[in-house]
Amino acid sequence: MTPRVFLQELGVSYRSNGTEVEALRDISLEIRTGERLAIIGESGSGKSTLALAIAGLLPASTRIEGRIDWPELGRVPQNGRDIGFVFQDPASSLNPVLTIGEQIAEVARTHLGLNWRQSYKRAEELLHRVHLPDPASALSAFPHQLSGGQRQRVAIAEAIAARPALLIADEATSALDTIVQAEIVTLIQELIVQDGMSLLFISHDIALASEIADRIAVFRYGRLVEIADTNRIVTAPTEAYTRQLLDAHMGLDVEPLLRKAEAGKLS
Ligand code: ADP
Ligand code: MG
Repeated sequence: MTPRVFLQELGVSYRSNGTEVEALRDISLEIRTGERLAIIGESGSGKSTLALAIAGLLPASTRIEGRIDWPELGRVPQNGRDIGFVFQDPASSLNPVLTIGEQIAEVARTHLGLNWRQSYKRAEELLHRVHLPDPASALSAFPHQLSGGQRQRVAIAEAIAARPALLIADEATSALDTIVQAEIVTLIQELIVQDGMSLLFISHDIALASEIADRIAVFRYGRLVEIADTNRIVTAPTEAYTRQLLDAHMGLDVEPLLRKAEAGKLS
């Protein structure tokens, strides 16, 4: 099947004050149609850089090598229209001085060519789809009047307003408490299936990623360590680093225990 997004030997270096920081090197991977791909790795491993590169949001001074292709689309993808982006902090996507309704309707007008009235109707439907309580009155609310979890629901509604082919969630649940985090993950799953979107789910948390993703790509120091089906990554990682991440998450390194048990040293 033709992949939705295809990265070929992508390299990204940031340039500032005459120095260059290489954030990604030689990344080749595909995001398939309708699949949920997770990118995991420690802070600084290049996850956000990858997301920004795909969305075309890197600063103009950045040096980009390799290719990013959208074979299905047949044209240059547009952020907001073909790609919906949800950041860790909803403040990055929500404007504090505009009502919720104004900002979602604006996306619908810009990218779907709806008129004012239709765009508000679409905004209300979207708030309903992200399960915001009382969508009709939420239209006239300002972001600060909502809880953190509700703001993230609004940010998701805005991200999917133009029916993008790809939804990117960059640590979108990392600032939320565990219960709200689980609710938002469930919501994202639901919307992906309903709209046939592909998902790029970025997280430092391998356990969370394994709940949502069909495949997981492990990043370290700007390199792709391994990429495989979630099941394979979790049960039979081929790379030592992936195993480290799994062990760190369980808070227990099971390998030495198993070896001791085998040697009959564990009573
Ligand atoms: P992650 O999202 O995995 O934490 P990032 O993609 O944010 O990683 O960062 C990858 C590397 O690029 C890090 O070394 C980081 O310091 C560097 N970096 C990120 N953004 C910039 C920038 N705007 N200018 C210079 N260096 C940057
Ligand atoms: Mg990041």
